[in-house]
Amino acid sequence: MELTTDRKLNLQEQVKKLKKEKNAVILAHYYQEPEIQEIADFIGDSLELARKAAETEAEIIVFAGVHFMAETAKILNPSKRVLLPDLKAGCSLADSCPPEAFRKLKEQYPDHVVVTYINCSAEIKTLSDIVCTSSNAEKIINSISKDKEIIFAPDKNLGSYLMKKTGRKMLLWDGACLVHEAFSLDKLLELYKEHPSAMIIAHPESEEHILKVANYIGSTSGMLNFVRNSEHDKFIVATEAGILHQMQKDVPNKTLIPAPAKEDNTCACSECAFMKMNTLQKLYNCLKNEDPEILLEEALMEKAHLPIKRMLELS
Ligand code: SF4
Repeated sequence: MELTTDRKLNLQEQVKKLKKEKNAVILAHYYQEPEIQEIADFIGDSLELARKAAETEAEIIVFAGVHFMAETAKILNPSKRVLLPDLKAGCSLADSCPPEAFRKLKEQYPDHVVVTYINCSAEIKTLSDIVCTSSNAEKIINSISKDKEIIFAPDKNLGSYLMKKTGRKMLLWDGACLVHEAFSLDKLLELYKEHPSAMIIAHPESEEHILKVANYIGSTSGMLNFVRNSEHDKFIVATEAGILHQMQKDVPNKTLIPAPAKEDNTCACSECAFMKMNTLQKLYNCLKNEDPEILLEEALMEKAHLPIKRMLELS
């Protein structure tokens, strides 16, 4: 249900008050609704949010993002309370890598180094040697000794992009993100015909045919920097459409066009339904009631912490 402007402002004020009273911090992903981004203490991509989660002094972390991100925050802060406005805010990419099946693959290749993209469950992280995000994946792969074979999971699109960038052969898990696989090449090229001066920028989770026509490929923060520093003034943006809010604030005089999805949806762009499960109302409720909370077993957190720690040390 759409909130009236008054209700929205009132909720935002109450969230700010509660944050102070409870010594809480709100970490929000770029894909969150603008009204959530506006009251967040920090907005970032997966790597930046993981770093902030590791540094925070707050007693409560409200994570406005999806489940695996809140889990990562909890693993980095086992003694703190981590809240997620809607526990059902999952991730199609994380779901595409079930732990039992992944464990079996790992058993077949016991000498391979396991690199996992941060978009996976805590249990998959316990089976990993090192975690990466799209911002640091190339660096992480390059840090692995050349005589070692690598398993990369769960995103096959990011994996094959990394194989080209690093020249390393890797065994790829067959997972993908529904949002980044939803871009239509035909519609994108049509759109480009209408805006021939636009630069196409894409997230490496997108399919190969989209990456082939992109002028720039990079992580969420990479794309923000590119648009900020580019001499061009028009961009077609192939990633979750929520990023456009922050991007447009950064470059108010530039034109940003969301890349079109295959399906004809209301916004004509690709949105992550999981990310949008968190609403301002749910965020207020969860901070007020301190629920729903992310709860993980100690042993699992300890094991999952190692590959995340290795990533943070390297990046
Ligand atoms: S955009 Fe894709 S990878 Fe990101 S949270 Fe949504 S489903 Fe997961």
